[in-house]
Amino acid sequence: MLLYLGLGSNLGQPVRYLAAGLQALQTLPNASLIAVSGIYRTEPIGGPKQDDYFNLAALISYSGTLQQALCDCQAIEHQNQRIRNERWGPRTLDIDLLYSPHELSNTERLEVPHPRLTERLFVLAPLLQLPEADRISINNKVLKEWAALQDAQHIQLTPHHWNGADIVEPIEI
Ligand code: ATP
Ligand code: MG
Ligand code: MG
Repeated sequence: MLLYLGLGSNLGQPVRYLAAGLQALQTLPNASLIAVSGIYRTEPIGGPKQDDYFNLAALISYSGTLQQALCDCQAIEHQNQRIRNERWGPRTLDIDLLYSPHELSNTERLEVPHPRLTERLFVLAPLLQLPEADRISINNKVLKEWAALQDAQHIQLTPHHWNGADIVEPIEI
């Protein structure tokens, strides 16, 4: 199945954690990385006072169930020193299952589409850069319409990008 993921980090060196997350996804035997968005920097909303977030979205092809994908993503978070304490508190690496065409889950442990996807510009903006994402419709609105409904949020595209093996910054000459 095709699966859109959202990755976020705001502890230590966030871009390094995002790169480690992508590299770990790349080495999963039952997943392959199809596309990676640009990397956005966002001021945190909700939760305690904390550093800025770096977010990206990725499209993978996954052979397994959504539940197995959640387990794989949580294992990767764990390998990257993710410690769960305060809700929406700072974290080294968060990997959320955002959306999968034709697949749904509606349990407390796993809700896909992600229940807060439509109200977060830091998720919508990178997601909209991925293939076919402009065709995703949730509650009768396409993602662009959801994005247009958001208040201006402090979100900026960084010059960092995924080069297929790592996240790099363009070199100024
Ligand atoms: P948010 O879900 O608001 O982005 P968060 O990502 O910080 O918050 P986590 O601490 O990463 O929340 O996850 C809390 C629980 O959410 C997980 O244990 C998981 O079972 C559950 N969950 C439900 N739906 C999803 C989903 N679509 N993707 C990832 N986790 C989910
Ligand atoms: Mg999250
Ligand atoms: Mg999460």
